[in-house]
Order: sequence, then C-alpha cells, then structure tokens
Amino acid sequence: MTQDAIRIEGLTKIYRAQRNQPPKHALKKIDLTVPQGSVFGLLGPNGAGKSTLINILAGLVVKTAGKVTIWGFDQDRNPRQSRASIGVMPQELNLDPFFTPRGALEVQAGLYGLPRSQRRSDEILEMIGLSDKAGAYARTLSGGMRRRLLLGKALVHNPHILVLDEPTAGVDIELRQMLWSNVRKLNEAGMTIILTTHYLEEAQDMCDRIAIINEGEVVAQDSTGNLLDRLDARAMIIHPDGPVETMPQGEGITAEQRNDGAIVMSYQSRQISAEQVLAAVRAAGITIRDVKTQEPDLEDVFLALTSSVGPGAPPPDPRDISSKKKV
Ligand code: ADP
Ligand code: MG
Repeated sequence: MTQDAIRIEGLTKIYRAQRNQPPKHALKKIDLTVPQGSVFGLLGPNGAGKSTLINILAGLVVKTAGKVTIWGFDQDRNPRQSRASIGVMPQELNLDPFFTPRGALEVQAGLYGLPRSQRRSDEILEMIGLSDKAGAYARTLSGGMRRRLLLGKALVHNPHILVLDEPTAGVDIELRQMLWSNVRKLNEAGMTIILTTHYLEEAQDMCDRIAIINEGEVVAQDSTGNLLDRLDARAMIIHPDGPVETMPQGEGITAEQRNDGAIVMSYQSRQISAEQVLAAVRAAGITIRDVKTQEPDLEDVFLALTSSVGPGAPPPDPRDISSKKKV
C-alpha cells in the first residue's frame, strides 16, 4: 500500500491587506502530494510561498481555502491527530531565551501531552549534539546550537513527518553536514522528510522528489531524476591531442572551440548518441587526449521553469556551468 504522507488540494493563502500593502496572494490553488517515506524538496526563490505552505502544515498560519490531509487526517476535521503526525523545524529562530535545551524539549513534550515514560529528551539531546549543554540557557547558545535545538523540538513527539524550512540557510559546513546526516538517518528509519531550500545542489543530493514553486504556484512536481531528464542537453568536452585544423561537423551537433583549445560538442541526448559525437570528432582527424561529459543539473531545470522563457529555451552554455550563482 502506498499512502500519501501529505496531500494538499487547492491550497490558497491570501494575507490580509496591511497599512500600505494590498492583500498578498501567497499561495494560488496549490496541489501537492508527498509519498510516505520520501525525502521531498520544496524549491523556489525567495517569496515563492514556501514558508507560508510549511507554516500552514504546522498549524501556524491559517489557510484561506483548500484541503490539507496529514497522514490521512484532515487538518480541519482532525486537527489533533494531524498535528501529532508532523514535526516542524521553522525557518525563524523562535526560542525562549530563558529555557535550557532540556527544559525546552520537556515543555514541547508537555504541549503534545506526552507522558514522562514516552519522553526521550536525553536521546534527542545526544542526537543533536547538545548533551553537554542540556542545562545552559538558550540565550547562551550559539546560532548553530539553537538551530539544532529547533530540530530536537520538532522530534520530541516522534512524528511520522519531519518538515525543515531552510534548515541550512546561513549555517556553517559542519552544522550542515550534521543536519543532513541526521535527516538521512531519520529517513532510513522510516520518517518522511519535507525540506525547503534554495540550494539546488542540496535538493539534488538529498531529495527523491521535488516540487518547484514560484509566485505561489507549483511549476513542476516530479522525481528528481525526471526533472533532470527534462533538460536533454548534453555537452562533451574534447581535449584534442594537437592543433585542430578542421572542426567536427554533424547534424544536430554544434562544435565550438574554447580559448584553452578544448572543443565543446553540444547535442541533445535523445537524438544523438555519444558514439555519433565521437565519430564526428574522429572524422575531423582529431585525436582525443581527454574527454568529459556534462549533464544539466537542477539549476538549469529551475531556471528554465521559473524564467518567463520557459522550458523550450535553448540550453545554457555549458561553459557557464562552473561560474553558476546560487539562486
Ligand atoms: P518563501 O518562504 O518562499 O520565501 P514566504 O511564504 O515567506 O516565501 O512569502 C510568500 C509571500 O507572502 C511573500 O511575498 C511575502 O512577502 C508574503 N508574506 C509572507 N508572510 C506574510 C505576512 N504575515 N503578511 C503579509 N504577507 C506575507
Ligand atoms: Mg521562507
């Protein structure tokens, strides 16, 4: 049986008008399903509506319209069960400065009505690496420790689903690795994970499914592999063993020589095989010293989907790949 961990139908959020601001249509009839056991990435530029969606799941923001089902429980009809099924690590650091890590975990457990026998504060402190800070006031903890504590708080009631809103924005490499190794372990133990990020590499490494949202709308929702396949562009970079007199030619292949002498062969993998590309190179009398291939990554897919040009746009110049910016 494959049941959905989360099902979102027609989800709409309009923030009310404020002083000089008109109403904000932050989510526009969003449909999303998150399969059980997956690591699901919610990707999108700043202001896309990611936190609004997460905060609706967490029960922190009230939706305007639509239906949210968490672990089979309708959020409106079974608010208690749906809330018990999910743990959310928010984007904002919202800790009471006068609580200690152990205190914060105990209070959180109390909020979920967990009897003492079911509390796991020590185990969680150990997992988030805060055992030796268990009794320190939150205001004395570093930013990274506070974030770890937020992760711990999201886990106290042992939810089926863990949601992380930009867990690695602005954190150092060590904390990032610690977060990801925890997330992987939790997922291996069966927990469904939803994360938002605007680091595409992270989503590519961590997620098996991805939804891309832009201006409150889902513009793509697919397996990570399928999203990557959508961009069919390939580039083969040939380092010739000597000067090149004739450039390779072939239908559906474009060849360009870079300043360093390498020849970039661009083609569509559905139409042209790598063997055809290599044959064109040999036919031009070029001996190959070295060859590399390049495939599109999520950033290319993302740009194609969120730009007004759309996915039909020409593939990005492969030579630009190394100089990419984070979105
Ligand atoms: P993201 O997390 O993808 O960056 P958000 O969900 O935080 O996006 O924001 C989506 C849009 O809703 C943005 O335009 C933001 O300014 C607006 N917004 C977010 N929270 C509020 C709020 N409390 N009141 C009014 N507008 C809001
Ligand atoms: Mg956000």
